[in-house]
Amino acid sequence: MALKIFNTLTRRLETFIPGGVPKERIEDYPPVTIYSCGPTVYSYAHIGNFRTFVFNDFLRRYLKFRGFKVNHAMNITDVDDKTIAGALKEGITLREYTDKYTHIFFQDLKTLNIEPVEHNPRATESIDAMIDIIAHLDKKGLIYKKDGSIYFSIAKFHRYGRLSNVTSMDMKAGARYDADEYSKEDVRDFALWKAPKDNEPYWDTPFGKGRPGWHIECSAMVRKIFGTTIDIHTGGVDLIFPHHENEIAQSEAAYDEPFVRYWIHVEHLLVEGSKMSKSLGNFFTLRDLLDKGYSPRTIRYLLLTAHYRKQLNFTFDGLNQAAQALLRIDNLIARLNDIKHDAPVNNQVADRCTAFVTAFTETVDDDLNIAGGIGVFFDFVHDINTMIDAGALGRPDAAIVMDTLEKIDTVFGFIFFPEVTPINKEEIEALIEERNKARKEKNFARADEIRKLLLDKGIIIQDTREGTRWIVKS
Ligand SMILES: [Zn+2]
Repeated sequence: MALKIFNTLTRRLETFIPGGVPKERIEDYPPVTIYSCGPTVYSYAHIGNFRTFVFNDFLRRYLKFRGFKVNHAMNITDVDDKTIAGALKEGITLREYTDKYTHIFFQDLKTLNIEPVEHNPRATESIDAMIDIIAHLDKKGLIYKKDGSIYFSIAKFHRYGRLSNVTSMDMKAGARYDADEYSKEDVRDFALWKAPKDNEPYWDTPFGKGRPGWHIECSAMVRKIFGTTIDIHTGGVDLIFPHHENEIAQSEAAYDEPFVRYWIHVEHLLVEGSKMSKSLGNFFTLRDLLDKGYSPRTIRYLLLTAHYRKQLNFTFDGLNQAAQALLRIDNLIARLNDIKHDAPVNNQVADRCTAFVTAFTETVDDDLNIAGGIGVFFDFVHDINTMIDAGALGRPDAAIVMDTLEKIDTVFGFIFFPEVTPINKEEIEALIEERNKARKEKNFARADEIRKLLLDKGIIIQDTREGTRWIVKS
């Protein structure tokens, strides 16, 4: 069994070989080096952004589940037209402005149970590495200066267009490929370094004052952290051209070695079938959805469970279905916790757990097919429920199933989801006891009142043969 990933660069499904040299065992590979384009911190990130960030999280979690070590960087773009404009408008420094949104972004990641990565470089702290790239390109005669800005000359880099299939010949005069309004010799060229405008922050460099173009930021941070070719670069499909194409051009032209082995691109997210836009009223930040009462766990589930190369249609119906799916998982956990009797180990249960992990791995190994993996998981949930119905599980078997759930949750991150609002368990249990007493005394009005009270706190009460139990609503 080997992990296969669709590489945007070759347009083929390829066996994943970190470092480019096959090894006998997974643990012999060097840590997988990953770079993910991060947010531009000028505002709240929207759920389309979070689809990509949840995918990045799943990717690193799955690699670790498969036994790889990971060394992952996700940058913070903290200087560009929007951040500069935002800071000017609020009358604060660029750093103060971007610190605010960087903090909010990391809070949102935590809310969605996205693991911290090893490196979070900021563009403004990587200027030295940008200067190094530009100096290398200058030595090779691949750049030119115009009106104080520095441009990369695409015509001189013959491999341009391999990633996106957009060749420099296809790029038409007059079209806008880059969000900058600076003059250049050829419209296809892109700015490496931008001349300072009034009121804008700038850095002093050997080639004059100014600020970085967007594309060079990522190339510089990759170089500064990893020093050489990296294994995986991820981003949304909208970044393939021109952003990633330009990253390849400047990095490979500067250092004469491949930039990235595997390019992974995440498809768009639609909301209720349409492209998200403020004018359509279907534009949502994470906080918008939380304000509507949806739980972070449900949102994570929905964002995670579609294949990354397929568009994800995010709907409120889908959120409700996600909550139902999570309820099935919680029910299984509650049933496992209810099993109190000791019994000899039932090998059938352990075998089913092993078979599940094998089937899950085989499915997800095929181009990170998490949608298929979720299907395999719910087959497993169904089978374990059937075995519990038949009384086939004793306490040791329940423990084995629980271990399996914990193992698989290192990939999912939605089974044992950290509680966002701490729940006072004693208070809940006291209320349940009071409710049971009320029911015994046939005071159904009070019993119902307590059930509703708990539901308002996000607690669902279930009356089962084994007694009353409670689960947290997703
Ligand atoms: Zn980038």
